[in-house]
Amino acid sequence: MKIAILSRNKKLYSTRRLVEACEQRGHEPMVVDVLRSYMDIASSKPEVHFNGESLPAFDAIIPRIGASVTFYGTAVLRQFEMMGSFPLNESVAISRSRDKLRSLQLLSRKGIGLPNTGFAHDPGDIPDLIKMAGGTPLVIKLLEGTQGIGVVLAETKKAAESVIEAFMGLKANIMVQEYIKEAGGADIRCFVVGDKVVAAIKRQAQPGEFRSNLHRGGAASLIRITPKERATAVKAAKIMGLNVAGVDLLRSGRGPLVMEVNSSPGLEGIETATGKDVAGLIIEFIEKNGKPHRTRTRGQG
Ligand code: ADP
Repeated sequence: MKIAILSRNKKLYSTRRLVEACEQRGHEPMVVDVLRSYMDIASSKPEVHFNGESLPAFDAIIPRIGASVTFYGTAVLRQFEMMGSFPLNESVAISRSRDKLRSLQLLSRKGIGLPNTGFAHDPGDIPDLIKMAGGTPLVIKLLEGTQGIGVVLAETKKAAESVIEAFMGLKANIMVQEYIKEAGGADIRCFVVGDKVVAAIKRQAQPGEFRSNLHRGGAASLIRITPKERATAVKAAKIMGLNVAGVDLLRSGRGPLVMEVNSSPGLEGIETATGKDVAGLIIEFIEKNGKPHRTRTRGQG
């Protein structure tokens, strides 16, 4: 199969591994920098161009679109979908998953366990917002944040009020969330491919830190997840419409709670900690499902 990997950098671990896995299985991979691709939208025959040349209609596209290029990246992916290429994750599902609040709303509608979360615009509503999150300590999150940046733990009511007020004053979109103390500074990353969790790791925050992001010095280790955790992760990816997803769970007293569903989960941490060939499993999924014109939405919606 002709497979395009939409990635800004060939040297990134995940991109390299996907190229390797394609080659090992006899496919033709091509890394395409989304920001260097451009589109002919007006003509009746959709095309994607790169360096003055028109790109072929690939059999499958593996989008590895960073949060900062979501808008442009999903537009390029949508163009490939219109050309009939099979997207590992659809543009619509990626856009959906990038909006943290919308994601939580979709998951809550289907009864997935979530930390209690509030969202408000007016500073006058802060006291009630704090109540919604179950009082302090609570977590304040910037909707646009990634890699743990913009996630704050407020221990007291006074601290919560002033941080929320400050963010609102800056016109930043924030959500206020129940702090899951039982998680003990750890979360679980479940790597979902199709309808299976193919690998899972626990990420433990450094002492004195509650954010377990590997970028914040968190340490990854192997973990056995429970059937309930497995089912929750698979269901969450399905609700978001993602074939491949990194579902982050918190272990709470009332069962697994979904914190986030990531549409471009990194391979380095998970492959290194588990020793599994996750890239190979992704390509295997494409081999089984990557038929042309199989996009559910064709980029619509
Ligand atoms: P980002 O998308 O920036 O990584 P997250 O929402 O994943 O932000 O939060 C970063 C980290 O903070 C998580 O990996 C987790 O360890 C911790 N964390 C986030 N929300 C909560 C919460 N409600 N209760 C306890 N810990 C949390």
